[in-house]
Amino acid sequence: MKLFILFYSLIALATSALAQQQKESKPKLVIGIVVDQMRYDYLSRFYNKFENEGFKRLINDGFECKNHHFNYMPTYTGPGHASIFTGTTPNNHGIIGNNWFDKFNNKMIYCASDETVETLGTQSPKEKMSPHRMLTMSFADANRLHTQFKGKTIGVSLKDRGAILPAGHSANRAYWFRGKEEGQWVSTTYYGPSLPNWVINFNKKKPAEKYLKTWNTLKPIKTYTESGADLNTYERGFKGKNTATFPYDLKKLSVENSGFDIIKESPYGNQLVTDFALAALKNESLGKDEHTDVLTISYSSTDYIGHNFGVNSVEIEDTYLRLDLELAKLLKALDKEVGKGEYTVFLTADHGAVHVPQFLKDHKIPAYYFDQSTFENSINTFIKKEFLTDSLISNFSNNQLFLNHQTMKANKLSVSKITKKIQYFISQQPRIQYVFTRSNLLQRSNSNVIGKLVENGFHQRLSGDLAYVLSPSTIVYPKTGSTHGSPQVYDTHIPLLFYGKGIQKGYTYKKTKVVDIAPTVSVILKIAAPNGCTGNILEEVILK
Ligand SMILES: [Zn+2]
Repeated sequence: MKLFILFYSLIALATSALAQQQKESKPKLVIGIVVDQMRYDYLSRFYNKFENEGFKRLINDGFECKNHHFNYMPTYTGPGHASIFTGTTPNNHGIIGNNWFDKFNNKMIYCASDETVETLGTQSPKEKMSPHRMLTMSFADANRLHTQFKGKTIGVSLKDRGAILPAGHSANRAYWFRGKEEGQWVSTTYYGPSLPNWVINFNKKKPAEKYLKTWNTLKPIKTYTESGADLNTYERGFKGKNTATFPYDLKKLSVENSGFDIIKESPYGNQLVTDFALAALKNESLGKDEHTDVLTISYSSTDYIGHNFGVNSVEIEDTYLRLDLELAKLLKALDKEVGKGEYTVFLTADHGAVHVPQFLKDHKIPAYYFDQSTFENSINTFIKKEFLTDSLISNFSNNQLFLNHQTMKANKLSVSKITKKIQYFISQQPRIQYVFTRSNLLQRSNSNVIGKLVENGFHQRLSGDLAYVLSPSTIVYPKTGSTHGSPQVYDTHIPLLFYGKGIQKGYTYKKTKVVDIAPTVSVILKIAAPNGCTGNILEEVILK
């Protein structure tokens, strides 16, 4: 009897020591997945159609934050990717739009453009990119610092900004897809003088060609009951095809739709991304040693398809059923290459999307199209009448007005008086929900939810002089397709799933914010949070 007890005590001791060791060791690889334009409700809308090894594996064996939101405006791709990985908002990391008005040089600039670097894998000067405009670090940078640069970082996405901003400043590499007539994976000299051989060889095999094929629904179209009819008036479709209906012959349509770029607008774009991410996993030996590596993957086809066909389309449903299979493929490869239980995954989105307003209107739900040029003209007319000059505004962009401070100075006009008058005028225009002045926003005294979101997206040096918000489901967009960018709940509410090493099983309805992801991952990696981090650790997510 005594021997029996001793035997079991030893086993219990060994098991608890193993559990302790498991807890203390770090994941070998962190995989940060962003699904571009994924609304929160896509998880529930398509749940019964998903297979078991993709989204459902992450949900049922991991932790789901069901009330996860962006906490700033504008909800665009560049700011979204930057905020997820830096753990802070645009007022701090400085990525205040995809494109924004550079008031110091009087021109529009792109969030990832960098004229000082050379392109690799393409001759096109349009791919000159780097993360230099992002003012704070990504958690991948914090991991590089902690591991004495032994833990690698690789970023992969169809979109340059979806690869570059997550991977951060000290990344080994970020790769994105060059469509047009090329169909290649490209990068820049920011990361090193030439492409690694495995990328050159990957490109030699013409990785995109096999996806110039017909896009038909994965399952019989009559089973797509979570979407509207395939033929409707809310979708744009492709040039060269009269209706936005299945099937789509991508090879034929590529002629009139920018060559290989058409693949981005089909679910095969996401397959291209998985193919390249898996090649990176193997060729860069990610997750193979004691130094934690970081792989960031951004699936962008979901966004192109949402913009083209809208939230309620069969095309969106088909894209998510197929993305589910891509996730299953990715997780299976991670099990094999890194080992089950040895890696940590999170999946989220860079913003949500609005239902096509015309579709809402046709179903008696308030929704509107905002005529931007009428709005701008009315402000210009007002200014001319009120201040007897027509050069007071330098730029309208990202729901902001930039005033011309030189003109105001030359005409001895009071900035605060002018902004207050324009603020009142804008507040009286149709479909304006709120309008804020620069000084309102910098005081950070707004108590309403939307005001706080505008404050968090407003950078004191880079941003404009006034910022306005349109009423819910009001967009500046054609009458087909969906878009995003607002601080409204359909653009801010997105999925957040954690899975794998160090993660508790479960879910929460507590409101969590985009800025909480980076500090939570950092504490799982036992590293310092990224330098600009303003989020909180999501304690319930972490295995104790
Ligand atoms: Zn996006």
